[in-house]
Amino acid sequence: MAEIPLVLGFDLGGTKMLAAVVGGDFSVRGRAKQKTGTERGNDAVFAGIVDTIEQAITNAGCGLSDIAGVGIACPGPIDMRAGVVLETPNLDLRDFALRDRLTKKLGVPVVLENDVNAGVYGEYVAGAGRGFRHIVGLFPGTGIGGGLILDGKLYRGARGGAGEIGHMVVQVDGRRCGCGRFGCLEAVASRSALAKDLVALAANGEAPIIREKAGTDFLAIKSGTIAKAMEAGEAAVTELVMRSARFLGIGMGNCVNVFDPELIILGGGMVERFGTQYLAVATESMRETGMKRMVEHVKVKAAELGDDAAVIGAAALLRESFARESSR
Ligand SMILES: [Zn+2]
Repeated sequence: MAEIPLVLGFDLGGTKMLAAVVGGDFSVRGRAKQKTGTERGNDAVFAGIVDTIEQAITNAGCGLSDIAGVGIACPGPIDMRAGVVLETPNLDLRDFALRDRLTKKLGVPVVLENDVNAGVYGEYVAGAGRGFRHIVGLFPGTGIGGGLILDGKLYRGARGGAGEIGHMVVQVDGRRCGCGRFGCLEAVASRSALAKDLVALAANGEAPIIREKAGTDFLAIKSGTIAKAMEAGEAAVTELVMRSARFLGIGMGNCVNVFDPELIILGGGMVERFGTQYLAVATESMRETGMKRMVEHVKVKAAELGDDAAVIGAAALLRESFARESSR
């Protein structure tokens, strides 16, 4: 049997871009990372993408002719059929015809995918989700990203918008969300939501470590700082973190009721830094929210691939698009 050709996975993030040459077994053969510079907009970002891809190929010890295609994980809404990134506020991209531009530049097929979908897919093929076919992925961070693997396939919905679990309403009349509505899961359980509550604690003098490291700017409160405060025994901080875990669990329980998954994967900085108690509290809250006959069978696991999830997922989805074409 011929060896499965190498493909390239790419993660276009708001602060950094990551390219990886991925083998048939989903192992990373070489990678390159670049800060997304202060130069934003379509042309500057495109130049950075090409440069990072070329570096990753060099680092893998191969050439462009060894690469069968490029899968790109993109933030923000994309038009998958046209291969266009519609809008990303962080990178100042607008109607960016990334697929066709990159195909022309590199001479290989290119596919685009939403970054959270790519991350969940990466965990499905090569991480915490291996061996499962029904998975809900949730990534609490600045917002809460969600993705769905249903019956072994990435589920995108009618217009590519499926999986916006972060905007499931879990507290009627709760805090205002970035989307303009009230009480969405991400408005109560994201790191940003938690940081807004911690600012009040810091101002009250109940969270000295947070006050010292970040002051009262909620944008400066990172997961690592919050973890340090918990480790130092700041009880009020731990209480708020566990409150946010309980809200996350309500969202997870609702997902169980709708999708009957075997597994929920939780990933991102909060899950990595807040330890087993965070996961345990979220899981317990999920079991209280979901219907018993389904929820008692659901496993909850932390994501395993970290930053590699999206590049591996994008590479895997590109391979799938090849398989679809050859079976036509
Ligand atoms: Zn919302």
